[in-house]
Amino acid sequence: MINGELQLARPLRWGMVGGGRTGQVGYKHRTGALRDGTYHLVCGAFDVDAARGRDFGMRVGVAEERCYDSYQALIAAETARADGVEVVSVATPNFTHYEITKALLSAGIHVICEKPLFFSVAECDEIAALAREKGLIVGVTYGYTGHPMVAQMAAMVAKGMLGEIRIVDMQYTHGFNAGDDTGASEAQQWRVDPARSGGTFVLGDIGTHLQYLSEIVLPHLKIEKLLCDRTAFIPSRAPLEDHATVLMHYDNGARARLWVSSVDAGQMDAQRYRFVGAKASVEWHAARPDELLYEVQGEPSRILHHGMPYLEEEGHEYDRMGALHTEGLGDSWANIYLWIAQAIAGNPPARYPDMAAGTSGVRWLENCIRSAEAGGAWVDYA
Ligand code: NAD
Repeated sequence: MINGELQLARPLRWGMVGGGRTGQVGYKHRTGALRDGTYHLVCGAFDVDAARGRDFGMRVGVAEERCYDSYQALIAAETARADGVEVVSVATPNFTHYEITKALLSAGIHVICEKPLFFSVAECDEIAALAREKGLIVGVTYGYTGHPMVAQMAAMVAKGMLGEIRIVDMQYTHGFNAGDDTGASEAQQWRVDPARSGGTFVLGDIGTHLQYLSEIVLPHLKIEKLLCDRTAFIPSRAPLEDHATVLMHYDNGARARLWVSSVDAGQMDAQRYRFVGAKASVEWHAARPDELLYEVQGEPSRILHHGMPYLEEEGHEYDRMGALHTEGLGDSWANIYLWIAQAIAGNPPARYPDMAAGTSGVRWLENCIRSAEAGGAWVDYA
C-alpha cells in the first residue's frame, strides 16, 4: 500500500511541455506527478501561446523566469543551470511528440511522453536507440494501467485462476463526437487532422489504452493476426476513423474483439475489459474501477473489491485509498509517475509503461492501418 512517503532519495526536478490552461490532459499529469512529492515542478513551456503559458505556469507555482516561450528555450536555459530540470513531460498534440522527445533526450533530459507515442515504429526505434545511448528513460502515460485492479487481473491470469485464456473482449467508446466538428475545440481539430494526429483518430486516441492494458494482463500472449475495420461516420474525418472494430488472434489460439468509437451516441464512458479463460472470467470497467467481476463456471458470480484482504498480493501493492474509499484515475496516474521515477532513479519496477510499451502501441496502430487500408483484411502481425 502506498501512503505518500517519499520513495526516492529526493524529489526529481520536473518540467512540462504543453498541458497548460487549455490542455485536456495536463492536470492528470500534475495529479500523478505531484501526489507523493516524488516530483517538484520547476519549469515549463506550458502552452503554444507563450504569454498564456507563462501566466499559467506562475499560477501553478513555477518561477516566472522558468516559464519558457518554447521547449527549445526551456532546454537551452535549463541545461545551463546547475539545478536544471531532470525530467520533462510532453503533453502536446501527437505530431509534436517525436521532435520534442528527441530534443529533450539529446539534451540529457528524461522524458515522460503522451500516447500515441510517435507516428511510426521507425521513429520509436530511433528514439529508443537515442535513449539507450544517453542512458535516459522514456515513460508513456497510459492512464488507467497503474490501477491496482489491473495488477489484480494480471496476477489472476498469471496464477492460472482463469485457466488458459480463450477470449478477450474490450471496448472503449463514448459519444462526444457523434455530431460533426463545426466549432470543435482545438483538441478535437488536431485529432481529426492526419498531419497532426497521425494515421488514426480513435484507434490511437483511445484504442491504444485497450491494447496496452491487455498486454499487461496477458504478457505471455502475442498477437499473430489482426483485422481492422474502420470508418468515419462524420465524412470530414476521413481518412481517419471515428469508429473501428479490431479482431485479433493470439499465438495460443485465443481470440480478441475490440471496439473503439467516439460516435457511440449517448455513451458517457465505456472502457471495459473481459478476459475469459477455460474455467473462469474477469471483467473490469474503468467507470467502476474499484470492482472486479470474477465469474467461475458453475459458481455464483463474485465482485472483488479493491483493498480487500482476499485479493492477490499484487492487487494490494499499489493500493492507496484502502477498501472504504474509491481508488480512481488520479491514483492510477500517481502510480505510473512513481514507477517512472523509480526507473529514473535506477530502480525500475518489474513493469511500467516504458519506451517498449509506447512502441508496442505504435506497432499495433501500424498493423490496424495496414489491415484497414487492405479493406479490412486479416494481416499477419508485423
Ligand atoms: P489539447 O489540445 O487539449 O492540449 C494540448 C496542449 O499542448 C495545449 O496546452 C497547447 O497549448 C499545448 N501545446 C501545443 N503545442 C505546443 C508546443 N509546441 N509547445 C508547448 N505547448 C504546446 O490536447 P490534449 O487532449 O491534452 O492531448 C495532448 C496529448 O495527450 C495527446 O497526445 C493525447 O493523445 C494525449 N492524451 C492522453 C490521455 C491519457 O489518458 N493518457 C488523455 C488525453 C489526451
